[in-house]
Amino acid sequence: METTLWLQGPNHPVSYQTTPLLHRFTLRYPSEPSLDTLVRVRRCAVMANYFEIDFLSVEAKKSGDAITVRYEIDGLTYIHVVDAGFQSSGDKVAQHIRTYYSNPTYIDHVVATHQDGDHAGGLRTILQEFDVGALWLHRPWLYAQEIIHRFATYESVPHLERRLRTIYPNLAALEEIAIERGIPIHEPFQGAQIGAFAVMAPSKARFLELIVESDKTPESIEEAEEGLFGKATTAVLAVAARVMTFVAAAWGAETFSPNETSNENEMSVVQYANLCGEKILLTGDTGRGGLQEAAAYAPYVGLSLPGIDRMQVPHHGSRRNVSTELLDRWIGPRLAAPALPGQETVTAIISSALEDTHHPRKSVIRAFVHRGGRVFATEGQAIRTQCNAPARAGWTALTPIAYPHEQEE
Ligand SMILES: [Zn+2]
Repeated sequence: METTLWLQGPNHPVSYQTTPLLHRFTLRYPSEPSLDTLVRVRRCAVMANYFEIDFLSVEAKKSGDAITVRYEIDGLTYIHVVDAGFQSSGDKVAQHIRTYYSNPTYIDHVVATHQDGDHAGGLRTILQEFDVGALWLHRPWLYAQEIIHRFATYESVPHLERRLRTIYPNLAALEEIAIERGIPIHEPFQGAQIGAFAVMAPSKARFLELIVESDKTPESIEEAEEGLFGKATTAVLAVAARVMTFVAAAWGAETFSPNETSNENEMSVVQYANLCGEKILLTGDTGRGGLQEAAAYAPYVGLSLPGIDRMQVPHHGSRRNVSTELLDRWIGPRLAAPALPGQETVTAIISSALEDTHHPRKSVIRAFVHRGGRVFATEGQAIRTQCNAPARAGWTALTPIAYPHEQEE
């Protein structure tokens, strides 16, 4: 079974072999796992014939995500779209699907990982231009009744609902289009099964907590008590983050940001699938909280960690979203020396724009290489990672990013 990474443009070919394994397919079960659910999980062996995952380039001053997936199981083909960049990227994503996925009119699953415009924006076009089997969307306003007691300033549930729709306009816009077009909407909480992909995070409980804690809902009781001081601190840290210097670092040395990513990023849908025996993880912009929650859930989908084969590096390669401990848990411990050719572990792919000089972070690239990973970033070009997928004319194999011998201070 040949597994190759491809990029458009003139690059040196790299390919490597993988061992075919039986795919384990996990059925949907309730979002609050308990020990007995582990027993109730039903698995059946399903062989994926092929898969291809395209990380499209989303080019703007800020990075964005647009990921399209096509896979075949038992002769049936599925198309699965995860985010589509900014609103301005939607047409390009639609065109990519038509060009490379046999000009379909139907998409099985569309997943909006979270509210941010660099992810959810372009999905409007996808919902409008294709027949969609299911939209997987978080709708915070549906839970206004459940969380209203956490806020000091909302006197009625409809008031909080209206406020949440205003705060999450990209999600509200997708809901509106889906309702207009008769597209079923499902909740992508932990435990949901989206085709071959299992939702690992967020759990509904954690999602609601993030909504309450979000900077975008400063009327929460906790925020009101904190006062303005917390916000000023956040602003100062944001300015400090823009002044970045690099220092030389020995093999294995890792320094990440002491700051956490935003609550909105932490709401990102984290998806796992085992296709062609390859363990695949899509992370959106999730942070350490989401990776932690997803790792704790791994046994419920038959995933033993460490050991991910293909992984989206979260949040465009930000150093606020990973840690040494979490990467040890997902991928494995740091190696004493660089992996030899052919002995690499994870294939790590970053969605980052050429103009966005803050992403990816060198410390994050280093951390994946420390664990035997091969790291690739979109940076103006689309990347396909695949297994047994149809050949593509004009696409060539891609060379991993060279190991950075320095990292952010
Ligand atoms: Zn993003």
